[in-house]
Amino acid sequence: MYCKQCGAQLPDGANYCPNCGASTGFLRNLLCVLVYMIGA
Ligand SMILES: [Zn+2]
Repeated sequence: MYCKQCGAQLPDGANYCPNCGASTGFLRNLLCVLVYMIGA
């Protein structure tokens, strides 16, 4: 995956870009999936 802010290559599952510090939204996406699975 690549940073949406600076285009740096990020490791899969990175929560933020180590180059510019931008959040990738990975944790938020994961939370949404969990909430969906639980049915809340
Ligand atoms: Zn970046």
